[in-house]
Amino acid sequence: MNNLIHYRCEGSVALVGLTCAPVNALGQALREQLLAACELAAADASVKVIVLHGEGLVFSAGADICEFGGAAAFAKPDLPSLLARLTELDKPLIAAIGGLALGGGLELALACGYRVAQAGARLGLPEIKLGLLPGAGGTQRLPRLIGAQAALEMIASGQPINATRALALGLLDRVVQDADNLLDTARSLAEELIARQAPARPACPQANPGAALPANYFADYRAANQGRWKGQSAPQRVVTAIEAACSLPLAEGLARESELFKEAEASSESQALRHVFFAEREVGKLPGLDTGTPIRPITQVAVIGAGTMGGGIAMNFANAGIAVMLLELKAEALERGLAQIRKNYETSVQRGKLTAEQLEERMALLHGTLDYADIAQADLVIEAVFESLPIKQQVFRTLDEVCKAGAILASNTSTLDVDAIAAVTRRPQDVVGLHFFSPANVMRLLEVVRGTATAPDVLATTLKIAKRIGKIPVVSGVCFGFIGNRMLEPYSREAHRLLLEGATPAQVDKVLTGLGLAMGVIAMHDLAGIDVSFLVRESRREVIAHDLGYCKLADALYALGRYGQKTSRGYYLYEGRERKDDPQVVALAEQIAGELGIPRRAISDQEIHDRCVLMLVNEGIQLLDEGIAQRSSDIDLVWINGYGFPAWRGGPLHYAEGLGLAQVLERIGHYREALGDYGAMWFQPAALLERLVACGKARIERI
Ligand code: NAD
Repeated sequence: MNNLIHYRCEGSVALVGLTCAPVNALGQALREQLLAACELAAADASVKVIVLHGEGLVFSAGADICEFGGAAAFAKPDLPSLLARLTELDKPLIAAIGGLALGGGLELALACGYRVAQAGARLGLPEIKLGLLPGAGGTQRLPRLIGAQAALEMIASGQPINATRALALGLLDRVVQDADNLLDTARSLAEELIARQAPARPACPQANPGAALPANYFADYRAANQGRWKGQSAPQRVVTAIEAACSLPLAEGLARESELFKEAEASSESQALRHVFFAEREVGKLPGLDTGTPIRPITQVAVIGAGTMGGGIAMNFANAGIAVMLLELKAEALERGLAQIRKNYETSVQRGKLTAEQLEERMALLHGTLDYADIAQADLVIEAVFESLPIKQQVFRTLDEVCKAGAILASNTSTLDVDAIAAVTRRPQDVVGLHFFSPANVMRLLEVVRGTATAPDVLATTLKIAKRIGKIPVVSGVCFGFIGNRMLEPYSREAHRLLLEGATPAQVDKVLTGLGLAMGVIAMHDLAGIDVSFLVRESRREVIAHDLGYCKLADALYALGRYGQKTSRGYYLYEGRERKDDPQVVALAEQIAGELGIPRRAISDQEIHDRCVLMLVNEGIQLLDEGIAQRSSDIDLVWINGYGFPAWRGGPLHYAEGLGLAQVLERIGHYREALGDYGAMWFQPAALLERLVACGKARIERI
């Protein structure tokens, strides 16, 4: 009857093994069988102690996320009532934790009177990462075990801790070095409990978990973190739940936790984070590519150009234990590039993120060369030279000459046509775009640009290697700017035009950071370099020449040598890291607006939000319609991981679904009318948006 539980009795000890592969997610079927097994043990007079463990698997990675938001999550027995029942049994329960006890898995362990773990185990309550809070007693039982402050840290960060730390906090009774001895340790603890007729549950070590806290602890904690949380409600709910643990008896605290959990589960924030969770699992799945698509082996990588991007790209591979050959034009550039990589690793060592040995191991995987013959055997070559089509084409002609057959030839271009680069080789099927984001060793986004001729196994191999180096690979078709930078253009255009119409840089940025973006678009231009965007514009003036009025302010700043943060002056003034408004920029905007005949007026925050965000969304929908992006959740991942769009809003397209697609279309139409010729030129709704609204669709999908 119990296909998910392996039950056996050894003397007075019942061993209840959870066998729900792969991670003992606590779905309804497992909950039901676990309860039945524990009831069986409870009713068996010969059983004195019950041991719960993962049978050949981790203890439990937590709730079954597929059940969230649906009826299955509350199907009987739901996790809170299952755990409540376990705490009522009059026999000691021991959780023997191997591998993982996360979320509901840790709450299951907390419902047991005793806990032992293997040294390598990780324990945590990561619910906050999905906009939730532990809803099966975690916020009430953990503080009673380890105190309110430590519990708050664990739950608010969502970060797992290792078994040693858990033992020190009092979350575990014992830690065993070797996983093979875990059950033996649980058995010997069981024998001890039987021998000393221990109670089913020992007295709470922290019966009053908030006793040691300073007055105003929670108010101060909220005040200190308000800025970091921005508009998110999940951290607020976590604090409220821990406060309840400090002020209410357990039963009332559990009831309060349950209310808070239900609120969180229904929140748009949690829905957005769950959307992102599933988006990350979907990304990289492509029609025509499956597990049967062959993968080319990648053991040696070469990077052409050891500049800002080349160095960062090389670090990704060295971090994953893959040897990299860096090729440069001149010895000085190569030395500079390698020295910069070492410096980056040294910073990680100083911050305690890397050991000195790891630094040397990684540097030993990196080799420099000036000679193409040295990269002839590379399986994957990534070009990261200057952003110029003739230069890149020349590099690819050489690669075509020297590289072995079957090598994957990739370009890190941010804007150039991957097909035009592939066309200079005799093997366009082996050419692909790999658009890393800066800093390339840190940013998780990788746009994988599929050229017209790119072979399926090249795409499958790059997706696989991307995951191996810890990236989120999003496939894009070929177009100017691919997914991310193409969407950046209308978003940025509106911000610039608004400066001419009367908004200030600070006002524009404040609206965007208020939405939760890591940085406003104007400050972002200062960071990326006004010179960089000027040079990109220069290279394609003939394509975008029909209305460049909105670029005039940026062009004027470039002419003044105000390149942004690097020159301490751009849209803002910089003193160190501090940003200040500059009345001269406002005066310049006024002057340019006058020259262009653009009337100045007071601009509302709503208008800034609508024009920047709706144009961003509209472009994303257009990209989906053109087939440049595969699915709307891919677009969300690009903007969350490459451009600082808040994950808790689910990315721009998920956010637009929340606003309502009909409303989005209506607002675009409104500005099309209200902004005269400018509106008529730029506020053209994407045809797919119109079709979705006409069909009454709530979700953005290709139809
Ligand atoms: P960079 O100027 O820092 O580095 C380019 C390096 O390439 C220099 O060290 C140069 O010596 C070397 N180089 C030039 N021609 C070469 C050749 N023929 N053979 C070998 N080496 C050569 O530039 P970067 O910022 O690292 O940009 C490199 C590429 O990455 C560009 O295509 C750029 O568009 C793209 N990119 C840049 C960013 C960014 O934020 N910097 C982000 C994504 C993509």
